Amino acid sequence: MITRLFTAYLRQQKQLGVDDYILNKDLINLLSLKRVNTTEQTTASLDSKTNQQAAATAIKEAVKNVVSQKKAESSSVHTRLASLRPLNTIIPSAQVGSKTVEPPVLEQSKREALKQLYINGCNACHLASSRNRWVFGAGNAEAIVMVIGEAPGAEEDEQGLPFVGAAGQLLTNMLAAINLNRNKDIFITNVLKCRPPANRSPESAEIQLCTPLLCRQIEIIKPRAILLLGRIAAHAVLGISESIAKLRSKVHDYNGIPAMVIYHPAALLRNAQYKRPAWEDLQKFQALLENLGVYGLPK
Ligand code: SF4
Repeated sequence: MITRLFTAYLRQQKQLGVDDYILNKDLINLLSLKRVNTTEQTTASLDSKTNQQAAATAIKEAVKNVVSQKKAESSSVHTRLASLRPLNTIIPSAQVGSKTVEPPVLEQSKREALKQLYINGCNACHLASSRNRWVFGAGNAEAIVMVIGEAPGAEEDEQGLPFVGAAGQLLTNMLAAINLNRNKDIFITNVLKCRPPANRSPESAEIQLCTPLLCRQIEIIKPRAILLLGRIAAHAVLGISESIAKLRSKVHDYNGIPAMVIYHPAALLRNAQYKRPAWEDLQKFQALLENLGVYGLPK
């Protein structure tokens, strides 16, 4: 019976001029079915019990070969998938009409993008020659809030980290007072990444050269809100030259991201009278975050 089926199958394959994909050469030889026009004698000889067993073994072998071939193909597909690079690293900027459309920054690549920016470093202005370490920023790459100060001080310059001195401790406490965890919810940086000598105020040329780096950080992190500490940060980010008294207590806009200005923690340490307005501004910032629905997001 089995022999007749194979014979019919091979005859059909031959008539169609198609290769045989089920029976391997050995099996065909074994069954003496290489030529479908075999004699009745040949067909009869295949009906013997021995040949039927041999045919069953050969079929098993053929199936085994096909299964192992499929496994090898599947494993090579997995290897190829694992070697794929993230989408945003292989899709270049595209030109749509007069606009350049940037590839999307994937959530999982924010950290990588910041890391790359850090590794690139910067020597764009003369502060590079007087710094001990540049202070790129610290915190969560997927922060909901970006806090931006003015420039590193002596301790930050030593450690390469932002807001590590007394003003930094006060800032940590201020953020905690409105339920923001400095490590989980925030990314902190400054307008200038390198310390101006003797803690002098940043010069406008330095700010101009350093601002593109800050803009790129904001672009990567895409925070839900920005908290600007002091006049220098407000002027650099918002491009408004107003006094801090006029800038505070309002919600500003930076490329669609709501931003608020409060007194710099260092100013609060020097002038106790700023503490009350600073606390009021912090509460307004908290209300802004509540309105944005930011609180309670998974961290
Ligand atoms: S202050 Fe800014 S622009 Fe100047 S070297 Fe440092 S990172 Fe570069």
